Amino acid sequence: MKSKIILVLLSVVLTITLTAQTKYESDIIKTSKGDLQMTFIGHGTLMFEINKYVIHIDPVSMYADYEKMPKADLILVTHHHSDHFDIKVLNGIKKETAKIIFTKACSDMYPAGIVMNNGESKSIDDFKIEAVPAYNIVNTRSDGNPYHPKGFGNGYILTVGDKRIYIGGDTENFPEMNKIKNIDVAFLPMNLPYTMTPQMVAEAAKVIKPKILYPYHFGDTDTKELVDLMKDEKYCEVRIRNLK
Ligand code: ZN
Ligand code: ZN
Repeated sequence: MKSKIILVLLSVVLTITLTAQTKYESDIIKTSKGDLQMTFIGHGTLMFEINKYVIHIDPVSMYADYEKMPKADLILVTHHHSDHFDIKVLNGIKKETAKIIFTKACSDMYPAGIVMNNGESKSIDDFKIEAVPAYNIVNTRSDGNPYHPKGFGNGYILTVGDKRIYIGGDTENFPEMNKIKNIDVAFLPMNLPYTMTPQMVAEAAKVIKPKILYPYHFGDTDTKELVDLMKDEKYCEVRIRNLK
């Protein structure tokens, strides 16, 4: 009887461990610097790995147990809302040499990173990082203020070898998106009232023309709507992953 209980307990532990390790979907894209693995943690949270170099994007404890995640060489934080910015996680996952890129508002709360403003670009290790705007125009709080006013947050364009990856952050389709060009992979947020409708994401995608589009930060939004809106845009493959 006792050994049976131990056996059951062991198998429970094993199942939990295995689930923890295999919980996240990931895709690989080929770059001139090697294979880039993109892991979809959930909502606005992602992890990229290339040649054992680890990049965490908006790492927050609500979507992963970061004690079990690989330590970061580079961390990108789009803005200081709690579904994107988590000081406890930042402290735990950064390697001693890690660089954290974020906004002025993040640095006011956590003065251990590099501030980038909209429009700035930097070379960090082997990568080029461009900070682009991320803001609301249509969607506002009841007092009329946008959820994300202009300058409040960053989107990032990350250049990895010959590939350019655009991480939108919390944004709507703003007019300056027409300056975002040559994008291989785009992550665009799709939930109301904070970001975009499927129609707005499709409009953004038709301007940016990414080769691969991942809607992310989509909550309960029906992703089929976006797939439908993009079905004639043959240059773009819409990929739906677990990024509620
Ligand atoms: Zn936000
Ligand atoms: Zn958000």
